[in-house]
Amino acid sequence: MTVTVFGLLERASQNYPDKEAIFDGANRITYKRLMEETQSIAAALSQKGYQKGDRVIVSLPNWYEAVAIYFALAQLGVILIPCNTRYSKEELVYILENSGAKGMFVGKDFQYFEDFKNYLQSSDSSLEDIFAVRSEMSEFSGYRDLLEKGKGISASPAPIDPADDVFTILYTSGTTGKPKGAMLTHENVIYSAELSADMLKCTKDDVYLIPVPIFHVFGLVPGILSVVSKGSKMVFLEEYKAIEALKRIESEKVTVHHGVPTMFILELNHPDFQKFDLSSLRTGIIAAAPCPEEIVRRIRTEMGCDIQVSYGLTETSAPVTFTSFDDDDYLKSTTVGKFLPGYEGKIVDVQRQKVGIGEIGEIAVKGKGVMKGYYKMPEYTQAAFDEEGYFYTGDSGTMDEHGYIRIVGRKKELIIRGGYNIYPREIEEHFYKHPSVLEVAIIGLPDTVLGEISCAVIKLKPGHVEDEQSMKDYIKDKVADFKVPDRFVFVDKLPITASGKIIKHELKNIITEKLKATLR
Ligand code: ATP
Repeated sequence: MTVTVFGLLERASQNYPDKEAIFDGANRITYKRLMEETQSIAAALSQKGYQKGDRVIVSLPNWYEAVAIYFALAQLGVILIPCNTRYSKEELVYILENSGAKGMFVGKDFQYFEDFKNYLQSSDSSLEDIFAVRSEMSEFSGYRDLLEKGKGISASPAPIDPADDVFTILYTSGTTGKPKGAMLTHENVIYSAELSADMLKCTKDDVYLIPVPIFHVFGLVPGILSVVSKGSKMVFLEEYKAIEALKRIESEKVTVHHGVPTMFILELNHPDFQKFDLSSLRTGIIAAAPCPEEIVRRIRTEMGCDIQVSYGLTETSAPVTFTSFDDDDYLKSTTVGKFLPGYEGKIVDVQRQKVGIGEIGEIAVKGKGVMKGYYKMPEYTQAAFDEEGYFYTGDSGTMDEHGYIRIVGRKKELIIRGGYNIYPREIEEHFYKHPSVLEVAIIGLPDTVLGEISCAVIKLKPGHVEDEQSMKDYIKDKVADFKVPDRFVFVDKLPITASGKIIKHELKNIITEKLKATLR
């Protein structure tokens, strides 16, 4: 195992200097150039006084410059804080204050320059620099200036203890609450990245499509770091559009397609899907949200891609379970595989006691990729781990006698209707098999009599027409009567995070407001 994140790039640039490392739509960057730019940025930052342990926010889309910045920070031992480019000013301020960041890299669309100037001037703020990338904001020195300043100079890599030194603080995406900064060490992310690449049998000849944002753990660890660990190539999408993904698979001969379920749903249902040559596709990871069986099967049969399903969290440096090439079709589409080597998992009840084979409980895991803790939040860290070091995921699942895991859903999304448990995932799976349904979310709504009732929020495929009755007729002989949604709402759009997940708590608020006059 390579010991530091910067070491991954050093190795790839020595082995494959002239090989293309990145195509981001606008630039083709070889490993040699990536290494040169990384070293210049590191040297310039070092001259400005950045050193091991400092924190730097990087809020950039999938641009090659972000990759060079990530590795430059790693070289200096400066802790990388990737940030969602769609964060509001308040959310960014929260992360700035929580992390005590000294510098911040932002892109051309950054809207809050004026507001953040106050932070630069204020004596109680940690912020000293804002670096603009691909931007004309002349008052801030940017990526290009740093490149010029650092040209030809090299900063010596900081001494790193991979098991203890933090490479990144990744704030959880906030689909369930206030962002918490998961501290991932160099060892955490390298273990996870190398293992993901090995599970997919990747080599230097692979070409990854990374359509998920690189500020998210999925794009960063099994994305960028897996690619660099093997000297493969990464192809980015700056902004996700199904048509662009399909075009890029064809033109760049992509072999590894990572993505969240929504992306595959949109690609498979795109009207021009059949027109593209996707024969280069070999495998990839589908993860980050429940993966409907139907979609996993269609990726195999219609895209000809032996996709693997994985389950993981920001706090675990992404994958902790994985299906494998040897699993049969049934296991590949109905499970998230088994715990990976280097991890131990268990399914527990509310008293944190192990449940039996096939019984539903919370998934807890310990192992190589699991974070050191939440940054400056000892009470959350303590609550998330038990005395044996298992991390409690907040997800419900089952384990069968062979160790295969099935995700039932998030504990928080369980709907309790008149004392009966409804797992949204189970009902959603049925609707995904309906020919008119593009996307669906089952949510709980307040009800004074039953405590909660269930509601199906459905986005139909273009040109399809359905109504409440046709949907009820479809589902009623497939599930027990109490699981048939009480309400049906048809929408044009579902709220999603930047990483492509449906934000159920937001959806719940929207639908509750919409139906308020008719709720008990
Ligand atoms: P926050 O923790 O702030 O609410 P988040 O949970 O979306 O945000 P992430 O770390 O991005 O944060 O996502 C991890 C979650 O994604 C898991 O806890 C799980 O609920 C879901 N998930 C990941 N992979 C899968 C999968 N294969 N199947 C079902 N759910 C998955």
